[in-house]
Amino acid sequence: MALTRHHPKAVIAAGCSDLVAQFREGLEPEVLISLQRIKELREISNEAGILRIGSLVSHTEGSRSPEILSSVPALAAAWGSIATVRIRYRGTLGGNLLARRYRYEMPVILSALGAQMQFEGGDIAVLPVSSLWDRDSLWDRTLGNVGILTAVTVDTASLLWFGYERSMRPLSTVSLAVRKNTAGLTVSAVCGSEYRQPFVLSHTAEATDIAELDPAFVGEVLAAQLPDEAGDYAGSIDYRRHLVGVLCRRLLAEATGTQRKG
Ligand SMILES: Cc1cc2nc3c(=O)[nH]c(=O)nc-3n(C[C@H](O)[C@H](O)[C@H](O)COP(=O)(O)OP(=O)(O)OC[C@H]3O[C@@H](n4cnc5c(N)ncnc54)[C@H](O)[C@@H]3O)c2cc1C
Repeated sequence: MALTRHHPKAVIAAGCSDLVAQFREGLEPEVLISLQRIKELREISNEAGILRIGSLVSHTEGSRSPEILSSVPALAAAWGSIATVRIRYRGTLGGNLLARRYRYEMPVILSALGAQMQFEGGDIAVLPVSSLWDRDSLWDRTLGNVGILTAVTVDTASLLWFGYERSMRPLSTVSLAVRKNTAGLTVSAVCGSEYRQPFVLSHTAEATDIAELDPAFVGEVLAAQLPDEAGDYAGSIDYRRHLVGVLCRRLLAEATGTQRKG
């Protein structure tokens, strides 16, 4: 951490699978700090309803973790479905998030889960994963000075269900979580695509049980929230809303039918 304070412009290197592409795109860092030997960043724990995943955990390790498999099995399944075998062994959670590329999937998967990023050695301590594309955010102002992403935390205590749909990738992916709170049940969905930033959609229903949710109605409410800018050359906004509605309905049908966390 002292190194990052001493070299605020240093580039952090984890698995380097994305950095190689960044070097080809013209990145020429003066200082590169490798995290490879910091074993604490590879730890995963689940205590008092908080799942904590070290930023250096690879996609393969995450998808096979006993802590994740027992608390949010669908997160392990989603994580194990991304990229290729080679990249899954090499690429890390932190690199997938902080590369900040639209086509990467962990920001979509983890935003629906309300995940928080924990930092050290920079000006920031905690930020929600969903803030990665906030407009005019500190990302644009202080990128390169965020220090080191040490871990990602997920509150699993209030989580009732989670699922991820990537069958329509690259056009559209949807990650969806249902949580219980004092107002009822909150459904958080995040829509991703290779060509646009992820969009967060949310609906709170006065219900006490997932089975009370109407997949068609909730799917329509969520899809209608997709902003016009989600449309692009690969699909109009009407088509995108239709697609997101279908994927949300599919996930909600599974959620209402199975009533399990994963
Ligand atoms: C052929 C191929 C196919 C792929 N397919 C998919 C796919 O289907 N779905 C998908 O989601 N992804 C896919 N990826 C992306 C892959 O998941 C990412 O490249 C990987 O997760 C990046 O992790 P890394 O450890 O290699 O990051 P690195 O390359 O080491 O770093 C990436 C960026 O994150 C920063 N960084 C990394 N860790 C930290 C940290 N702890 N703190 C601060 N900054 C940090 C680095 O400075 C750099 O800017 C693919 C990549 C390739 C090459």
